[in-house]
Amino acid sequence: MIADATQTMGFQTEAKRLLHLMIHSLYSNREIFLRELISNASDAIDKHRFAVINDGSLASGADYRIRVSADAEAKTITIDDNGIGMSRDEVVDNLGTIAKSGTAAFMEQLSGDQKQDSQLIGQFGVGFYSSFIVADRVVVVTRKAGESRATRWESAGEDEFTVSEAERESPGTTITIHLKADADEFADSWRVRSVIKKYSDHISVPVMMPKPSQPGDEEEDQADQERRRA
Ligand code: ADP
Ligand code: MG
Repeated sequence: MIADATQTMGFQTEAKRLLHLMIHSLYSNREIFLRELISNASDAIDKHRFAVINDGSLASGADYRIRVSADAEAKTITIDDNGIGMSRDEVVDNLGTIAKSGTAAFMEQLSGDQKQDSQLIGQFGVGFYSSFIVADRVVVVTRKAGESRATRWESAGEDEFTVSEAERESPGTTITIHLKADADEFADSWRVRSVIKKYSDHISVPVMMPKPSQPGDEEEDQADQERRRA
C-alpha cells in the first residue's frame, strides 16, 4: 500500500533555483510557457509513434492530437496529449530534478534582462518549469502507454511536489495550470488561440480547442488552423 500513498518530495537544488527564477523574475514574454508545454506534448506523441513501431503489444494512437482548453471561471488552462505518458518513476525524475547539463549553462547565461532571459528558457530545454511563470499550482495526471496505473503530480513550485496514484482512461498526459491572479489572461480562449497560432509552426499534430463561438458546446476545432491554411 505504501506505493499508493501520496508522497511529498523536495525538488533537486538546481530545480529549485530555476523554479524560483520562473516564479519571481520572468514577467515578460510569459506566453512562452504554452509553447514549451505544446512542444512537450508533441514530443510525447512522437515518442508514442516510435514506441508503437518498436513494440507490437502497444495499440497505435491513430488520432494523435493535443487539446488545449481555457476555463475563465476556474482560471485554469489545460494541455492534454495522447502521447507516451510517464510512469511514476519517470514523473519523479523528469519533473522533480534537472538532469540536463544545459541548465547550468542556462543559469550562467542569465543576463538580468527579463525578455532576453525568458527567451533563453526554450533554448536550454527547461521547458516544463516555465509553467510556473503563470501558475500558482500545476497538476499533472499522466499514464504511460502499456501501463494501467496513472500518476498525479502536483506542485506550487516553491520547494516540493507530491506524487500519488491516479485514474486515467487512456495513455497520455494532462497538465492543468491554476493561473496566478495576474496571469488570468491565459484563461481566455481567444488569447490562448492567438498564442497557439504563433507557436505551433513546427508542431506536426493538430492542436485542438473547444469552439469559442459555442461556449459549453462539446465541439472543437483546430486552433492552429488559420495559420495552416495561410
Ligand atoms: P525537455 O523537453 O527539453 O526534455 P522539459 O522540461 O520541457 O525538458 O521536460 C522534461 C521532461 O519531462 C521531458 O524530457 C519528458 O521526459 C517529460 N515530459 C514533459 N512533458 C511531457 C508530456 N506531455 N508527456 C510525456 N512526458 C513529458
Ligand atoms: Mg520541453
